[in-house]
Amino acid sequence: MRTIIKAKNIINGVDDSIIKDKCIIIKDGLINEILNFEDFKTSHSDLIFSYDEEIVMPGMIDVHVHLAFSGITDNRSFRAESADLDYGAQALRGYAFALEHMSYGFTSLRDMNAPGNVAINIKNMINNKKLIGPNILACGLGLSITGGHMDQPGWGNHANFTDMTYPCDGPNEFIKGVRTQLKAGADFIKTNMCVSSTYDLHHPYKQEMSNEEIEAVCAEAKMHNVKVASHTSGGPSITTAVRAGLHSVEHGHWLEDETVDLMAKKNIFYVPTLLVNERNFEFEHNEKFTKSKNWKWLQLSREAKWKSLDKAINSNLNIALGTDAGFMLPHGSMNYREMEYMIQGGMSNMQAIKAATQVGGKLLGLNVGTIEIGQKADILVIKRNPLEDIKILSNNENIEVFKDGKKFNKCSILEK
Ligand SMILES: [Zn+2]
Repeated sequence: MRTIIKAKNIINGVDDSIIKDKCIIIKDGLINEILNFEDFKTSHSDLIFSYDEEIVMPGMIDVHVHLAFSGITDNRSFRAESADLDYGAQALRGYAFALEHMSYGFTSLRDMNAPGNVAINIKNMINNKKLIGPNILACGLGLSITGGHMDQPGWGNHANFTDMTYPCDGPNEFIKGVRTQLKAGADFIKTNMCVSSTYDLHHPYKQEMSNEEIEAVCAEAKMHNVKVASHTSGGPSITTAVRAGLHSVEHGHWLEDETVDLMAKKNIFYVPTLLVNERNFEFEHNEKFTKSKNWKWLQLSREAKWKSLDKAINSNLNIALGTDAGFMLPHGSMNYREMEYMIQGGMSNMQAIKAATQVGGKLLGLNVGTIEIGQKADILVIKRNPLEDIKILSNNENIEVFKDGKKFNKCSILEK
């Protein structure tokens, strides 16, 4: 049986303007043919959906999420939720979050560290067709130096957590880290090359992995034919990593010109995560905090991030949409705001939509993100034109979702 999406208006993720009057013919979950209306011949078993006013576009991709976390904004609670929930409970909740992303049109996700292999298990259940859900790539546990960005102190010494992240020291331990994640089923490797430094405003970021460790991770990942993504703040370690084979630069508050040039030359992806930065300024803070160094650092990093985006746009970098959902923001409902910030930063609506579709698809290396023959039939139907108003994507009632060519019945399973 074929499913046909007959649409008068299509954003295909490739062209810069709306494509008119096409029939998208779907077979076995893939886009099999794209025909002009007049060339399409129906057969009695076809399941046909017709759209006149709506905009049909590719399913979107959030390349930076944390399915094991809820997005709670209180620092203590963020840490405490890992203590409250067994990993089984986190996996159940993470699956509900994945569906929430999908209800807002995000049919592919990349998880950037989930304790206890939670995201890998969700992915496996979906890939083995035990559950319906988005395409997921997962890194397992992020690799971090002891006491580094993803191995922070603060718990009482008596508190003992296992499998939160994967601390490594020295090139050999990083190599073991790569192999351990791959054994657990990771699709790519997440590391932390450099970190923010809130106590020193003259040096607002610093390198935390040594050059040898960075090179060891990249070489090992390359040998296993998997990509490396890294949390970054700024400085020469990013250039070192890009030279060694880093595939995507996450955050990159202080991108240096040299780094941007090299990223452009090597086609490296930039995931600016603008929304999570801006979230800091949406909450009420007490005076003690707004007079602190941390607050000044937040302002510095905010300014720097907008400059990095500007450089990235001017150098035509591959900019992909990543929100950091799960950290400081909920899953799904705010994703569209990353596009709003991209537009505020100088990208056109179409460029922002491409960041969420074509570019994200290329970053993932899956056949998603465009409406072309051979691609997965992950397709959205939007009530009105997001090229005119991106906010249309803020309400999931405006979005119909086809996953692998099948209409996804949104269900509300999250208590709100
Ligand atoms: Zn993150």
